[in-house]
Amino acid sequence: MLEFDDAQTRLANGAPRPEATMEAALRDAVGLVLAHDLTATLDLPPADNSAMDGYALRHADYREGAALPIDQIVYAGHAPQPLRAGHAARLFTGSLMPAGADTVVMQEDTREADGKLDITRAPREGQHVRRRGEDTRAGSPLLAAGTRIGPAQVALLASQGIARVTVHPAVRVGILTTGDELVAPGEPRDTHQIYNSNGPMMAALVEGMGARATHVLHAQDNEAALKSAFQTLARDCDLILSIGGVSVGDKDLVKPVLESLGAPLDLWRVRMKPGKPVAMAHVDGKPVVCLPGNPVSAFAVFAVLVSPLVRRMQGRRELFPQVSMLTLRTDVPRQDSREEFLRVRRELDNGGVGELHAYDRQGSGVLSSLPWATGLARIPAGHTVYDGEKVAYYDFKHWLG
Ligand code: AMP
Ligand code: MG
Repeated sequence: MLEFDDAQTRLANGAPRPEATMEAALRDAVGLVLAHDLTATLDLPPADNSAMDGYALRHADYREGAALPIDQIVYAGHAPQPLRAGHAARLFTGSLMPAGADTVVMQEDTREADGKLDITRAPREGQHVRRRGEDTRAGSPLLAAGTRIGPAQVALLASQGIARVTVHPAVRVGILTTGDELVAPGEPRDTHQIYNSNGPMMAALVEGMGARATHVLHAQDNEAALKSAFQTLARDCDLILSIGGVSVGDKDLVKPVLESLGAPLDLWRVRMKPGKPVAMAHVDGKPVVCLPGNPVSAFAVFAVLVSPLVRRMQGRRELFPQVSMLTLRTDVPRQDSREEFLRVRRELDNGGVGELHAYDRQGSGVLSSLPWATGLARIPAGHTVYDGEKVAYYDFKHWLG
């Protein structure tokens, strides 16, 4: 038996970081990972501008009760004239500050009549001005290699005028489900068959991380079908995930088939529940991870054991997302000789911190626990955990992102 932490580290190191890079339009790069550090080339904002709809003036020209003549109107996107001494300029949010102006008074603190401005509340020097470079300075680090591009990164890159970026190509994942009992959703089902939920589930898990499920294959429990599927996937994909058929039953043929392809299994039984049979091999240099067949086990194993490997192959910097310690609420004290990953739901308590509620049925066949759960709570092996104790919480938001 392999300890969970060892299995996690070994799996995460099961493939090298990516070397391949490609250029992509910003929009096509969403979900992909930056291959190089990027540095800002522009000061942002590029010039001093107004944070308010209002008027710009030189603070030294302000006298309580004295009206200032208005010498110009500056719209956003238009170039201002230098401000004449003793004058004010009408402007709007995002309008550039005229040379000589240093302060903005907001419209609500003014009255305008006959081309002159009355200021009803004394301004503070420099107020409501966004300074050139106060957000980002040219030459400062913008985003680091290994950052996954999402909406926030797109906004930052676009603000620098960057339209194309160098990224790692999406990891191509081949999924292989196994079993004579399975039939694809949408197909007619005999009474002795069940629908294949792992295939669509694994594809969704993979794509949710920004990798591509390029192949979703199914093989009956026979060596020829399994062998040919593994060969196809090893040829076309970067990572292979096989599900089921990896235990010690008569029809558990994944191990012998991989061995016949010259790929001895690197690890075998992980001391975790759900999900004991987990294995890794390399076929033609391509990593193969074998997950247990129970959909709940496959989901949990993917989340906490396989996702770091996917992140590494994507070139991401952070392989192991945050794990927080939160209070577990459970009626049944929990204890097992294996580490147990409970399907839990994080609910906010009175302090707004959040506590974990365990699904009432934790069997590895209980698929309805997954849509309900927000993450997994890790119960250490050989140690009884009672209601109110803090446990490690693996949030799907982080671990499946
Ligand atoms: P196995 O590891 O192949 O013995 O499978 C363990 C359990 O998971 C069995 O009850 C299988 O019927 C079930 N199972 C295996 N693969 C799938 C799948 N793709 N979809 C749904 N259930 C599955
Ligand atoms: Mg099977």
